Amino acid sequence: MTQSVFPHRHLLGIQGLTPQHITMLLDLADGYVEQNRAADKKKALLRGRTVINLFYESSTRTRTSFELAGKRLGADVINMQVSASSVNKGETLIDTAMTLTAMHPDVLVVRHSDSGAVQLLSQKVDCAVINAGDGSHEHPTQALLDALTIRRRKGRLSGLLVAICGDVLHSRVARSNIHLLNIMGAQVRVVAPRTLVPATMSRLGVEVFHDMREGLKGCDIIMMLRVQNERMRGNFIPSIREYFHFFGLDYEKLGQAKADALIMHPGPMNRGVEIDSDLADDYERSVIREQVEMGVAVRMACLEVLARNYTGGTA
Ligand code: ASP
Repeated sequence: MTQSVFPHRHLLGIQGLTPQHITMLLDLADGYVEQNRAADKKKALLRGRTVINLFYESSTRTRTSFELAGKRLGADVINMQVSASSVNKGETLIDTAMTLTAMHPDVLVVRHSDSGAVQLLSQKVDCAVINAGDGSHEHPTQALLDALTIRRRKGRLSGLLVAICGDVLHSRVARSNIHLLNIMGAQVRVVAPRTLVPATMSRLGVEVFHDMREGLKGCDIIMMLRVQNERMRGNFIPSIREYFHFFGLDYEKLGQAKADALIMHPGPMNRGVEIDSDLADDYERSVIREQVEMGVAVRMACLEVLARNYTGGTA
């Protein structure tokens, strides 16, 4: 029996969660995968509740899947178009949050370019807050959906060898996945050029490789990361061509991993930069589409547990 109570008011990161809480969220999400594949996808579990998506950075998958997740649970979902909002008139993050909470949302889903901004906001508002990605800090629902994808394919997380490859320095996806995989007993490797590995990595208990072929040897899972040009201040890679040659995933480098190794990418992909385009579309090996599907289910699970906690009722 997994624990059925999620003791946190907000979901700000994976760090601090227990294996039981992660398992509980994944089990709940598993049930929603089946619901999402049925003709009638809608439940009334969150009827009367309001979810606000407040995105200060662009997003396709995350924002859409939070919207779908809320709607499939029967909640009212509002998307804040930040470019068309008061933010452009100079309103601060906290002012915006206070204005929104005066309208009594139950859950605020927030993405922001500054690490720590979502946590700061969670201290100021009354409702539950979900971190939909803050700077290069955390992206907890991405790690949960990655874990659900892996668990459904491999039947477990514990004992798997996972290589996280590419622009680790700027990646909140890498950080959240490292925490989750460590908590769940997987073994994590980071594979990247020296310029794209933060000094803190060794403290997180991962093995660091600068040679992709070495790093991929014997892996069960290969998580590719987007080269995040928008976060780069300076020259981190010599050229796209050289980056792809040494760190882009292609069939030849994939040959080092286990024969049944799965390829993952959180999206959006830079085809021909961190991943070969044909390989990304090779559904024998790539589970990139499944990750998107699992994203809706995982976000339904997160909305459910936090909305339930927020009122203290039995949503
Ligand atoms: N979509 C993910 C994120 O928001 C990964 C990426 O942008 O590269 O962090």
